[in-house]
Order: sequence, then structure tokens, then C-alpha cells
Amino acid sequence: MKIMYWLAAAAVLWVQADAHPTFSVGTATAARGHRALGVIHVPPGSDAAYDIPVALVHGARPGPVLAVVSGAHGTEYASIVAVEELITSPHIDPATLAGTLILVPIVNVNSFDKMTPHVNPTDNKSMNRFYPGSAGGTQTDRAALAVTREVVDKCDHLIDLHGGDLDENLRPYSYWTVTGNKAQDDASKLMVMAFGLDHIIIAADRPKDPNASRYLENTASVRGKASFAAEAGRSGPVDRSDVRLLEEGVRRVMAHLKMTRETFAAPRPAVWVETVTVAAERDGMFWPAVDRDAKVAKGARLGAVSDLLHQGAQDIVAPDAGIVMFVRALPTVHKGDTIASIGVIKPAP
Ligand SMILES: [Zn+2]
Repeated sequence: MKIMYWLAAAAVLWVQADAHPTFSVGTATAARGHRALGVIHVPPGSDAAYDIPVALVHGARPGPVLAVVSGAHGTEYASIVAVEELITSPHIDPATLAGTLILVPIVNVNSFDKMTPHVNPTDNKSMNRFYPGSAGGTQTDRAALAVTREVVDKCDHLIDLHGGDLDENLRPYSYWTVTGNKAQDDASKLMVMAFGLDHIIIAADRPKDPNASRYLENTASVRGKASFAAEAGRSGPVDRSDVRLLEEGVRRVMAHLKMTRETFAAPRPAVWVETVTVAAERDGMFWPAVDRDAKVAKGARLGAVSDLLHQGAQDIVAPDAGIVMFVRALPTVHKGDTIASIGVIKPAP
């Protein structure tokens, strides 16, 4: 009897040692050492239901749960392609992986399908502004709630990938969010530095309310998960160099978290910046005078906005000295649109 008792106790301890012998996200369920594919259901409401594709790699050994999400904006293609490639990456082997990788390549399936920039064409909302979401809202709100429950709540580290949308001429950069929780901020800083993009925006103004977190990355941050966002790619084309920055960046973070044993050369030291943006004061036609990554002085001419007969052009000038993180890529411009974002160089935090 005693032996039976000890065997049972040992079995309980063994089960407790592995909190996740299997792992599920949406309809995808993987046992240790396996991959799984599935969908996260967004239920019907005032508008249609839809499914968000999800892939899981559940490593043979326990370890961190890292979520990588892209395609909140379905025409930021380089970031979507990077996560698609991670799903089948030969560098991520479930038999040797420590921990779990959750890959969500396209949150905004309807934007991807209809090639609509910035918003979900079903309800005209940005899919990175309505977190943590709500069950009674339109499709974007319900999708945000599903991602919060199925991805954010189940991970302990998160990377949200973006890029220059169809109308954005963007240089690659990451965001590091300062939450005020030192241990978490230190962890996310090491992650963003491991990711390896050579420009990092310090974001200290993100909402602190978990019930109104707005952005996906911020939703993870305010729930105590070390996280950051990164952007590469621009204006539509899928450049290999942009895809590689994001795909390899995720693998660099996995090695940093000791999920894999891949080794990489040290990334270039990062330039840390805070951004100031310039918005259009009228509808019309934009005439750029600078390219992405240009170094500009305070007051430098960034371009002009004219009417549709090329009359009444008004200069757009840099509000501060810095680096052009992105500049509008297309002539079409509406009052209130961001014309450019200038990265003002700051000391490394
Ligand atoms: Zn985006």
C-alpha cells in the first residue's frame, strides 16, 4: 500500500512539473514536441464571424511561451510573410525547442483579403486600437477580445509585428514600451535589443489601464508580459531584407529566452529615439522632399501639400531635428493624416 501511495505521489509531482503537457490556442492543440495548426474563432455579432489562423510549436521541453502576432494591418505584407515563414522554419524544431511558440500571421484577414490598408473593411476600425476588445462590439472589438483571451492571456512574452502600410515609406524600427515596472521593462528592453533592429523608439505614453489598453503590445505589457512591437517593410513590396530582419529577429529573441540554442552575431548598437509626428492640415496632394531615414534639422522642409491643381502648396517642416522614421509614400493626403514621423535621438536608457 505504502509503495502505491508513493508511486501516486510521485506521479502527481511529475504532472505538476509540466504545467502544459499539451497546449491549445483556438482550435490548435499540440502535445509536447509537436506542431499544430488551427483557427481562433471570432464569433458573430452585429456583423459576421470569421476565423484568425494560428500555428503552435509546443517544444519537447518546458520553457517560456512566446507569442508572435502580425497582420493587424493586413497590407503590411513583410511582417505577415515573416511570420508565415516562421511557421515552417527549419530553425524551429519542436523536438529540441524549450517552451512554446504561438504564431498568428494575419489578425486582419479581411484587410489582407481585400487589400485594404489601415482598417478592417468590415467595420472600418484599426485592428490595433480596440484592445482588450469586447464581446458586444463590432468585428474588430470581438477579434481583439478573442486575441486577448487566446493569445495574450496564454503567453508570457509577446512580439507584435508591423511595417509601413501601403501609404507609409518606413525605415525598420522597434518600440520599447516603458510601463514603470522595472523588472518587466528590463526584460522587454533585453528582448527588443536581442531582436536586433538598429533603431528603437522609446514609448512612454501608452495607456496604463488594462481595460483600455488600445494596442496589442500594450495589452500584453499591462498584463505583466514582457513585450514589444517592431516594424519593417513599406508601401506594399515584400523585400527579402525586411522579411529577414523580422524573421531572424524573432529567432534572436527565442535564443535570448533560451528557447533555442541558435547563435547569432551581435546586432549593431541601437539608436534610441523618441518620435514627434507631423499631420496634414488639409486634404490634397502630398509632394515629399525627403526619403525615409533622412537626417533632418529642425525646420527642414519635409515636403508640401497642394490642392488638386497644384496650387497653394504649403510647406511641411520638421518640428525637431532627427531621423525620418517614416514619410508618407503616396500623393493622396487627408487632413489629419500623419505626413512624417521624426525620431529625435535620445541617450540609451
Ligand atoms: Zn501596423
